Amino acid sequence: MDLFVSANVLKIFEKEIENEVSQSFLFYGDKGLGVLYAAKVFARSMLCEKKVLGGCDACYFCKESLKEWYDEIIILETKEDSLKVEDVKKVSKKLYYKPQYGRKKVLIINEAEKLTTDAQASLLKIIEEPKKDLIIILVSDNKERLLDTILSRVVCVNFFKKNKQDLLAFLEKKVKKNKELISFCVDYFDNMIKDCVDYLENEEMFKQEMKNISEFIKLYSSSFYQASLYIKDITDFEGEISSKENLTRLIASWIRFLKFQVKKEMEVVESDYFLKNNIKIDMSLEEMFVLLGALKKTYEAINKDYLNKRLLLETLFLGRMFKL
Ligand SMILES: [Zn+2]
Repeated sequence: MDLFVSANVLKIFEKEIENEVSQSFLFYGDKGLGVLYAAKVFARSMLCEKKVLGGCDACYFCKESLKEWYDEIIILETKEDSLKVEDVKKVSKKLYYKPQYGRKKVLIINEAEKLTTDAQASLLKIIEEPKKDLIIILVSDNKERLLDTILSRVVCVNFFKKNKQDLLAFLEKKVKKNKELISFCVDYFDNMIKDCVDYLENEEMFKQEMKNISEFIKLYSSSFYQASLYIKDITDFEGEISSKENLTRLIASWIRFLKFQVKKEMEVVESDYFLKNNIKIDMSLEEMFVLLGALKKTYEAINKDYLNKRLLLETLFLGRMFKL
């Protein structure tokens, strides 16, 4: 498993893997920086008998860990809004047993900011009196949501965005795509390593992103009637884009596209990828800013079950036509 983190993070990792000083960690940084991935690599390294970063693939643990029934790196996560005290209790039962394959067990809690206060209190008990063979890694993009009592007991590791030059060098080695496309992706995905790798390696995902963008352009320039039909389509739960998750992804694409257009307009980025592929939108910079702000709010609101998704999008796109 290769790892792409800043020199600071790497130093902490190497020190911990070598000396096994700490048992509880908080890895924090924006979504898309590959923080969860780094946590998995770190976990593997902590368990490897030869203490190789990312695992040696040869020792007993590294080989066992590739098997299907292997469960000593436990990941607690949820698609729901919150991780509850029951979730923590359920997972803590799995921690009672001694590790079977390696020297330690690792519990990774993804999106730890979703832990309710009660769940955090329950987790705190585990962190306060950790078993010798247990390592806990919290992964979060919002550490303000965590209790001070937790923060004071974990080693905080901050993941920053990499600069463009370093990221380009890494991606050019990792993915077999032309430089121009790689450079575009780095700008488009705002130096977020995980997104760059995901979209460059998965052509379907990339195509879907472009499709989402062309639908946005179509929606923006279509008539009142067409736009309302399209909105009905994407928010209709029997329709092709049916689930909340798909709708969220669609709007995320729109936000990325608009952000890129703003940067392009302000000459922060150079890539002509969209122009070359004949993807363009006729919108003033001012209008982009307004729509971008509104889309971000809509994105948040889409995840609230009590709000009507169709109404949200109608307000945004059809409401705009009334203002003209
Ligand atoms: Zn190993």
